[in-house]
Order: sequence, then structure tokens, then C-alpha cells
Amino acid sequence: MGTAAPSFLNPIAAEGEAAGSRLSTEALARRAKQRRQIQGMIGVSYVIDAGILLIYAQAGTVPLWLGPIYALCGLALMGLAILFSETGINERFRDHYMVAPQSAANMMVMVVFTYIAPQVGVLFLCSLFTVFSFASLRSTPIQTAIIWTAMALGLAGLFLLTDKPVAMPHGSHVERFATMLVFTLTIGRCMFLGIFSSAMKASLYQSGLKLKEAYKRIEELAELDELTGSFNRRCIMRMLDEEIARSARNGSPCSVALIDLDHFKRVNDTYGHPTGDEVLRTFAITMFANIRSVDRFGRYGGEEFLLVLPDMPNDGATRAMDRLRAIVADLDWSAFSPGMKVTLSAGVATLRTDETTDSFLARADSALYAAKAQGRNRIAQA
Ligand code: GH3
Ligand code: MG
Ligand code: MG
Repeated sequence: MGTAAPSFLNPIAAEGEAAGSRLSTEALARRAKQRRQIQGMIGVSYVIDAGILLIYAQAGTVPLWLGPIYALCGLALMGLAILFSETGINERFRDHYMVAPQSAANMMVMVVFTYIAPQVGVLFLCSLFTVFSFASLRSTPIQTAIIWTAMALGLAGLFLLTDKPVAMPHGSHVERFATMLVFTLTIGRCMFLGIFSSAMKASLYQSGLKLKEAYKRIEELAELDELTGSFNRRCIMRMLDEEIARSARNGSPCSVALIDLDHFKRVNDTYGHPTGDEVLRTFAITMFANIRSVDRFGRYGGEEFLLVLPDMPNDGATRAMDRLRAIVADLDWSAFSPGMKVTLSAGVATLRTDETTDSFLARADSALYAAKAQGRNRIAQA
């Protein structure tokens, strides 16, 4: 059913808006509309049953006034519910449909009318069954249990405390016709409830899928740097800590490279900040295209990046980093602006036994400082 389904068939629209939270005017209007639709259905149901009572009256089974009085009772309950809904009283309750009190009131009408006109009791009992089924679809297990208890007490009173026979008229053709309508229309309402519950399931399934996608996106956003798509500082630092722990556990070497773009301020000053951003993005893509799948690359801050190289001894890391340096330096940056050159400097360090993350990074930073001091566009070992 998805989005094309009427709004009252969309439980998510209703339940997603938790009680107590501030709802927008549109959300409140949507909830009020859903309540109006449900009340409309209840009203139509009473009018249909009243019509069947008129057919029974035609057969002489019940007095003529029974149908109109029954419809009036139902419409009065409906009017009261709409009044509550439109004045916003419903919104004060956790269950804004007020399923429990409404079902109790409607079931009381059914039980009272079964008592008044037991000769057509089948009609009211079938309606009682429909009200209970509809209520249970919209209720919590506790509410359902309360509604059932109220209904059971009402029926116990009806069947055990009086000796009135509750009947299913079938003496004449007209009575048979009316009773046939009672059953077919009850089954029709069951069919509607079936459609309602499958719409609920479909809607829940769709919402589950959307939630999954949203969580995935949130996770990605929480881990990635917006500009370059590389891991953000928090994430790359966590990955470094994990690598350090792994290296300490199994004794494998672990190296890092602290990378800083050379004279990047000049790039911004000469070509503009937006071009600087594009350069950072292109640099990150180039790095991703040329590192191993086990390597971790993240933005450490500004135009500084951290490359974590698991299982890589110092010389190997320095060679790998120098290869990356050459790739960046040899890139055709003139696409951004004629004559543009972008180079990087990096400090490479390899984890020592029992070394902390801070001291490991401090050594890489000193090496980077040395690379800058030696003239840039080069790699220095810690
Ligand atoms: P050095 O070779 O010594 O590293 O020189 P530098 O100019 O790169 O060094 P500095 O740290 O003084 O300047 C870094 C510049 O990077 C300054 C800052 O405006 C720029 N920058 C930092 N983050 C961004 C960013 O997200 N986008 C752009 N376009 N520029 C950035
Ligand atoms: Mg720099
Ligand atoms: Mg810098």
C-alpha cells in the first residue's frame, strides 16, 4: 500500500509521532484527519446496521424505531468523538485515537441493544466482534486485554444475568435476507480489517527499510569528512588506536605518515578558496586510488592528513609514501589553473614497543617538520 494508501492506513505516520513530543501543525492536522476518517467509518457502519434493522422491522421482527435509535446512538458517539478530536482533547493522551474508551462506549451500545432487542442479537454481537477486532489492531496488548475484559463482563451480564434468548432471525424470507446481510457485511468488515493490517505490515516494512538507509547514511556522515570523503579526524584516530592495539597484540609493524600539502595558503591566495577545496578533494581521491585496501586515510585537520599503514615497517612505509608523493607531484594540476603545482611533505614514523599514540604522532609530526625544513616535496623518517 505504501504512500498511496489513505493516511489512516499508515500507522507509521501516526505512531512515529511520539506522544509528548512537540508536533508540527501539519502533523497535528494529519492526525485529526485520520481520526475524522475513522469516525466517518464508524458512522457509516452504524447507518448500515440501522438499515438492516429497518429490514428486520419490515419483517416485523423489531419495532420500526429501533433502527433510527440505534443509528442515533452511534452517530451521537461519533459526534462526541469528533468534538473531542477537533478541540484537541485527544492530543493530551498517549493514544490520540482514544481506542480504549471509544471501543468500550461502542461495545456498551452493542450489549445494551442486544438486551433491548435480543430477537436480532446476532446483528449486535457481530458488530461487537467487529469493534473488538478493529480496536485490537490499534491497541497495545494491555489495552486489548482491558477491552476484552470489559467486553467479557458485558457479555457475561447479558447471557448469565438475564434469561432473554439471543436470536438469529430466519423465519421469513425477509428475515433470512437481513441475517444474510448481517453476516456478509460482517465478513466484509473483516476483509477491510485484513486489508488494513496488511497495509500496516507493508508500511512498517517500508519504514524499516527507510530507517535502515537513514542509519547507514548517519553512520557514514559520522565517520567521513564532508569535503574530501576521507575519514574524519575522530574516525582516523580511532582506527589508529585499533591498529596500535593490534600491532601490540601480534607484534606486526605499524607505520603512519603525517602528510601536509606544501604552501597551501598560496594555492588559496592565488586561485581562490573554492579551487583550494577542489584541490583537497582531488588529492584525497588520488590517495584513495593509490593506497592498499588495508591502509586507512583520514583528514587530520585543514590540509593535513594521516595515513595509517598496517603491517608496514619503516623503510617500506617511507618508500610507499614517496611513491604517493611523486604521484601527487606529477599530477596534471593545470586542469584547475594553468601552471598550478601541488606537492606534499610527509613525516613517516613506525610504532615502537609500548609507545603511546601521542608520542607516535609527535614523532611523525617532528619528521614532517623536518621534511618542510629540508625544502618540502619530500618524505622524512622519524
Ligand atoms: P606549508 O608548506 O608550511 O604547510 O605551508 P602552508 O601554506 O600549507 O601552511 P599553513 O598551515 O600556514 O596553511 C594551511 C592553509 O590551508 C591555510 C588554510 O587556509 C588552508 N586550508 C585549511 N583547510 C582548508 C580547506 O578546507 N579548504 C581550503 N581551500 N583551504 C584550507
Ligand atoms: Mg601546508
Ligand atoms: Mg598545515
